[in-house]
Amino acid sequence: MMPILYYSTNRNLKNVAGITPFTGKVSFKDALLKGQAADEGLFMPDTIPQLFLKDIQNLKGRPYSETALLVARAFLADEFPLETIRQVVIDAYNYPVPLEEVKPKTYVMRLDQGPTASFKDFAARMMARLMSNCRPKGERLNILVATSGDTGSAVGEAFKGVAGIDVTILYPEMEVSNRQKKQLDTIGGNVQALSVAGKFDDCQNLVKQAFSDPDLVKFNLTSANSINFGRILPQIIYYVYAYAQLAGKDEPAVFSVPSGNFGDALGCEYARRMGLPVVKLVMPTNENDEFPVYLTTGIYKKVSPSRACISNAMNVGHPSNLARFFDLYGGIVDRVGQVHKYPDLEEMRRHIFSVSVTDEQTRATIKSVYEHYQVVLEQHGAVGWSGLVEYFKTAPEQKLAICLETAHPAKFPEEIQKLLGLTIPLPESMKNIDQRKGSAVSITGDYGDFKNYLQKNLKIKE
Ligand SMILES: *Cc1c(COP(=O)(O)O)cnc(C)c1O
Repeated sequence: MMPILYYSTNRNLKNVAGITPFTGKVSFKDALLKGQAADEGLFMPDTIPQLFLKDIQNLKGRPYSETALLVARAFLADEFPLETIRQVVIDAYNYPVPLEEVKPKTYVMRLDQGPTASFKDFAARMMARLMSNCRPKGERLNILVATSGDTGSAVGEAFKGVAGIDVTILYPEMEVSNRQKKQLDTIGGNVQALSVAGKFDDCQNLVKQAFSDPDLVKFNLTSANSINFGRILPQIIYYVYAYAQLAGKDEPAVFSVPSGNFGDALGCEYARRMGLPVVKLVMPTNENDEFPVYLTTGIYKKVSPSRACISNAMNVGHPSNLARFFDLYGGIVDRVGQVHKYPDLEEMRRHIFSVSVTDEQTRATIKSVYEHYQVVLEQHGAVGWSGLVEYFKTAPEQKLAICLETAHPAKFPEEIQKLLGLTIPLPESMKNIDQRKGSAVSITGDYGDFKNYLQKNLKIKE
């Protein structure tokens, strides 16, 4: 069998100012450590491995980590020993994945039981452990992350205690909430927060400068950004898991995935291409409607600036993973949202349904799902549910349907209290955050100051 290699979504971009297409291919390990191709394209596997339906069906009633092993080894077996992959998934997935029946044949999959109560834990935890396994021998990796809030703590928690890796998180001191600050400051161990006197953009610029500074090369600086293919792979797994647990023999399924940067939905797209019987991928967005508008009109125009909605993790005017969707359907779109070649729209419509959900509809959905079924959804999951309802208006035949709940309702106490009059207790994983101790190091927004900190504090050797 040929090993799977990774190419750039920009490889065929010709005559575009400022871009020299990267036409080569790299291993999974390189794609994981580099994060992004040199031409700013996103890495894509050149072959999509196939799963046998029978192997999927055999996972019924088995722990989540077994599904994770089946999917991960299909991609990684060329580059990692089977035992390593097994350890990675067992260590990463030590929390439950509830599948809650809302009404006959219709389920909510709760991806909110990880350390930061968000589905992003699934990707970040596996990526962290894979990175630990491909660091240069005897050396450490140093992860730098700039965050405006939640991403930083998901990454920090995911790498906490992972061998051979230290994490430095930069956040803008004036722009994070008290709760977010507490979460970021107190992770501890191999994770250190820096509170920067500046804005999020300043944090991002400091990190960018550090990556291109030759004096810092010895520290093996790496990013853990959301466009890394190492974060897409883990997001394939839960679709296969849900299907294995819930589907009857050869039964097709519909998944609804509340979407922002489209990384989560991309996992479902790959799962289908690996052989999972997905009849429709429903990708509802909030009022950032660039994608549903594209599917309807055939014309893509990013929303700029992005619209602020209550499902704030999905306030994205040009989804970064759209480049991967376009590529899979034969098109090219770049980082800034310029389309260089349109994909096969008919084919996309055959597999994908998308709709924009307003804040008003989102709130009404939270209320009605609770009133009808006593099921509590937060605003991201409610966008997902609303999308499912809209889809079944166009295809009313009863089918197995699974809606993803991507965050824990307790993360949004004000909204839930206002709409349902309920106080939802924090999940176990987040309960003692308020008692945790730890503090950030304060730095100015000046690069020299930041560099000085890194040179004094980062370690090179294990
Ligand atoms: C990030 C996020 C999303 C959107 O996922 P994408 O992969 O960016 O589409 C949805 N819900 C929550 C809670 C998130 O944090």
